[in-house]
Amino acid sequence: MDRELIDKYKKLGRGNWGKDLAIWKTMYRGFLNMAKSQGFNPFTEMLLNNFLDIPKARKEGIPVIMHPFNYEPEIFFAMNLAPMMQEILSVGLAFVHMNEPYIDYINKMGYGDNPTICNAQRPFISMVIQGAAPIPDLLFYLSTPCNSLVASYQVYQGLSGIPSYNIDVPYWAYNHESEFYDKKTVDYMINQSKNLITWLENNTKQKFDDNKFQQTMAIVNEAREYTLEFNELLKAVPCPLPSITGFGVFLTMVTRGGSPEAVKATKWFRDTAAENVKKGIGGVPDEKIRIAWPYTHVFFDQELLPWLEETFNAVVIMDLLGHYKVLPHDTSTTEKCFESLAMGTLDASMVGKCRGPMEYYVKYLVNYVKDYKIDAVIMPMHFACKHVYTMARVASEAIREETGIPTLIFGVDSYDSREVPAEAIRGKISDFLTHVVS
Ligand code: SF4
Repeated sequence: MDRELIDKYKKLGRGNWGKDLAIWKTMYRGFLNMAKSQGFNPFTEMLLNNFLDIPKARKEGIPVIMHPFNYEPEIFFAMNLAPMMQEILSVGLAFVHMNEPYIDYINKMGYGDNPTICNAQRPFISMVIQGAAPIPDLLFYLSTPCNSLVASYQVYQGLSGIPSYNIDVPYWAYNHESEFYDKKTVDYMINQSKNLITWLENNTKQKFDDNKFQQTMAIVNEAREYTLEFNELLKAVPCPLPSITGFGVFLTMVTRGGSPEAVKATKWFRDTAAENVKKGIGGVPDEKIRIAWPYTHVFFDQELLPWLEETFNAVVIMDLLGHYKVLPHDTSTTEKCFESLAMGTLDASMVGKCRGPMEYYVKYLVNYVKDYKIDAVIMPMHFACKHVYTMARVASEAIREETGIPTLIFGVDSYDSREVPAEAIRGKISDFLTHVVS
């Protein structure tokens, strides 16, 4: 079976993708090699198709729209556009350190440095300047979760000159029970989504279709149902899946949310978790420590989580992005679909917890620790996430007071192995788990 799939994807990957997609194609080949060695499943197939869709869109005259990691592409699928998440490049290359020459280049040019402008976007700016970046037809981004992201997308907008649209994400809550409730929150988002549609229509030949929008939002709901069940299943002791799994759910929703493939992949994650819970199988044999990782992974160090699992029998339940908590919504009318789109953006993994008062994050984290029977919290604090420094410390104090669970916070550049090397990170985690947690 895998042989057939290997041949199929080899064949699909052939041909000329265009000069600007050279890195995109190299990454496709890398993922195909990974699938060859680790096996195919609905998630790996979805990822491969995500790469293939861009050259295919080019051939078919479908506009490609670039968006960042904090916005799901359902509205783009509903408008028959090809979404391309930028961070697949800047962050994806970090896994094999291929981002570092781009960081070095942009450092020499003087566009920020690691602590000031984030390396989840800087390598892309470097690629653009060197003529090595994919050239989409349109650019879309949000005002959150940080100024660094917005600054880099504005720079890209200036460098590329392609039409761009930006949504301003409000600070306030939309649920009545919250002390931060503001009744204008959802309407503010809906108006911007409607303007986005007008902008898309004006800049492409695509037309908005109510029915297609409703169908797409119903598909999103299905994937969200599976994801919620997946989240529940991860509360089991032992945790049924290895540490990196939650991140796969995030990647599914943020690259393919609104597509049938995302439904297939999230169902596969849910089913695998359910099967293991039923059989009492843990993602980490003989699970001893359950870790909350309420920030981003250390993307340059692929071996960190396996090392934690093997050395300490510790499982990382979910990272902040992987802890996808958007609820399914009523999508029975077009207006309801717009509401769902708005709430989905407001609640998206990092956006939902980091877009407003720090109480959003603190409350989320305390509940996470309680719900998932967490023994330790580990927060690698990416240097450029300056907006989170204080929030992380306050959250760790709240966790200690309410649950007695300890937190390790340490500085790191999650994308650059030269700042705080892998060995130093392991040393800090090892000391914490040996002397504070055990
Ligand atoms: S990792 Fe931090 S600084 Fe970088 S884009 Fe995300 S929130 Fe912004």
